[in-house]
Amino acid sequence: MNIFSFGAEFTDEKSCRLHFKEQRDKQGVICKRCQSTDHYWLINKWSYQCKSCNSRTSLRSGTIMESSKLSFMIWYKTIFLLSATKKGFSSKEIQRQLGLKRYEPVWAMVHKLRKAMGQRDDRYTLEGMIEMDEGYFTIEASEQAQKTQKSGRGSKIKSNVMIMAESTVLEDIDTGKQERQCRYFKAKVLTSHKADQTDDTLQSAIDNDQTIVFTDQSTSYVNIADYVEVHMSEKSNEQTTKETLKWVHIAISNAKRNFVGTYHKIKAKYLQLYLNEFVYKLNRRYFGEKIFDRLVIASITANGH
Ligand SMILES: [Zn+2]
Repeated sequence: MNIFSFGAEFTDEKSCRLHFKEQRDKQGVICKRCQSTDHYWLINKWSYQCKSCNSRTSLRSGTIMESSKLSFMIWYKTIFLLSATKKGFSSKEIQRQLGLKRYEPVWAMVHKLRKAMGQRDDRYTLEGMIEMDEGYFTIEASEQAQKTQKSGRGSKIKSNVMIMAESTVLEDIDTGKQERQCRYFKAKVLTSHKADQTDDTLQSAIDNDQTIVFTDQSTSYVNIADYVEVHMSEKSNEQTTKETLKWVHIAISNAKRNFVGTYHKIKAKYLQLYLNEFVYKLNRRYFGEKIFDRLVIASITANGH
């Protein structure tokens, strides 16, 4: 989907609704009252009606648009803006592009979409060889912290983020030269340096105990060997940065650069949402124009609350 095909396909509210319905039909509608999946479509009401209990489900109900008063057209334009570029937009910029007066509904919509992206990626686990490291992202200190530490308004702190990347070692048959090819990534905000939290985060990110995990020698990683096939740890130096942990380091620096260039400031409680968007697009970097439809599907299947 580029701006010209978007403009040609989504000319009005109805075309957006019809596309949304088509995608939703493919995902299936579940009756909130009786869990039945068989429905009629009530053409004039833009609603589904359960064949078992007659309960009605509007087109928005059960999707992230459920409690939103914004039109499908506005949602679609936003999904387009979020999926069209690698870089991303701030909610403020999206508000400007949409020409809307109020900021709050735009902000809520964009955050819901970022949440949906995270929920979609949480369905998948990483497997095989995995690079893992922590990155320190600059965020705004919370108002609480600013008060207690007397650090003043707008002061900056660092937030710890765990980044994981599937990274397969490939050897060139002719030259014997090895390189690492990356596939999927995950990024999760950590609230402490304790090993427990690292363990929980890693365990929920990986597929099974066949995993080989590469890290540096941080003390947060002491338990990893207990639940993976192999834990390889190397002293942190230039070589590990360039080779063993190459892709996590590339992802960390790209994410930081992206955030600095796109967002005015990042509050601690929203950092995960920005990471969701960054990782969602990174994981779909070969999807091309299909990413638009995928994001529509993510907004249908995500939990809106
Ligand atoms: Zn029902």
